Amino acid sequence: MIVMKFGGTSVGDADAIRRLVDIVLAASHERPLVVVSAMSKVTNALVALDAAIASGHPAIVEAGIRQLEERHFSAADALGITASDRGALAPLFVSLRSIATSEAGQPSSPRRRDLIAGFGELLSSQLVVGAFSAAGGPASWFNARRVIITDDHFGSAIPDENRIHENARSQLAPLLAEMIAVTQGFIGATPDGAPTTLGRGGSDFSAALFGAALGAERVEIWTDVDGLMSADPRLVPEARLLATATYDEAAELAAFGAKVLHPATQLPLVEAGIPIVIRNTFAPARPGTWIRADDNAEDALPVRSISFKPGVTVVQVRAPRMLGAYGFLRRIFEVFEQHEVVVDVLATSEVSVSLTVDDVSRLEPVVRDLRLVGEVGVRGERGVIAVVGRGIRETPGIAARVYTAIADVNVEMISQGASASNLTFIVKEADGPAVVRALHRTFFPEVA
Ligand code: ASP
Ligand code: MG
Repeated sequence: MIVMKFGGTSVGDADAIRRLVDIVLAASHERPLVVVSAMSKVTNALVALDAAIASGHPAIVEAGIRQLEERHFSAADALGITASDRGALAPLFVSLRSIATSEAGQPSSPRRRDLIAGFGELLSSQLVVGAFSAAGGPASWFNARRVIITDDHFGSAIPDENRIHENARSQLAPLLAEMIAVTQGFIGATPDGAPTTLGRGGSDFSAALFGAALGAERVEIWTDVDGLMSADPRLVPEARLLATATYDEAAELAAFGAKVLHPATQLPLVEAGIPIVIRNTFAPARPGTWIRADDNAEDALPVRSISFKPGVTVVQVRAPRMLGAYGFLRRIFEVFEQHEVVVDVLATSEVSVSLTVDDVSRLEPVVRDLRLVGEVGVRGERGVIAVVGRGIRETPGIAARVYTAIADVNVEMISQGASASNLTFIVKEADGPAVVRALHRTFFPEVA
């Protein structure tokens, strides 16, 4: 079997959903499980709805629900979905309204936000099932919460892979032997059935969990770009598509802003050795990018891609007195852990550590606690540049070529990734695009 995951823009309107149906029906001999995201921007709208419910303005809440209703029903109309299939959408709006009424004026909680945010995938998956029957190739709707069992860390729940395996094999595999099934990304449930989510952008992760549990031949991620590129084409017009990449390379790109794969996505698939293929819903004839443990290196370039992630803040902790002392790093990490702030890159010297964070909303208490460890400096408006490629460590002179290419830029912090497949550094956010272009010219000279 295969897993075919379709992101928000790939279910964004009737036209996209029609493409999805054609793509999946053409692969029906491979027994696909279809995993869908919410229609584009719907999850954001639901999160806003949760906030509106808390603020206790029923008119705003009702307007929000009505907008969602119109978007889904008008797509259903355009898809020629029959009244009885449209009937599956209505009860979801009934539940949403009843939550809105009973919770009116109550403050939000991560638990309630997960409940409400999950409606986007419930709705889009019903729409997609309706589109399959309208196209004459029926598919069955499957509730992801029957399989994706998680802990109760609402907002970014941790999946229980053993239970997921058991449930997928007992409940989903028999169904897939009979027909195409459509299920939801992003959502799960605790063992007692409380709705959870895997975190924003979590649908890819869902696809990986389903794929690993079912022993899929591959997991296809259908999106609105051709695949992994040598750079962001908005920054570098001559960027190329990568036909293949290794899991390591893809993980680095995901972590540093290539924005195709959710960073956590791959883990279950890496362990199971299942390939991931990135495909473009809007250009399905294109081959996409195949991601596996080792690619056959038809592209011998040591550097595969250059990425840029803006909006980063650097936190530096210096503690000269800690020179040679035990526990410096551990104390720093404990602070971040305590406040649940995710850290990305780091460079260490004997007396200082630099870390980068994306989310500054909880930085204040972190900085306060770090001051007990050493002197703390915070610099905002920074960007992370990552030069990614398996050959970086083995190929002499890569670092020298990088420094030559960016000689006139002030580079603030450098770390060669532990995975050996990236060289990462921090620049001022405003310098980022020019740096990416300079590096791309160095490592991907235009073939004449
Ligand atoms: N719909 C969810 C979100 O927007 C999950 C996803 O699309 O991956 O975060
Ligand atoms: Mg999305």
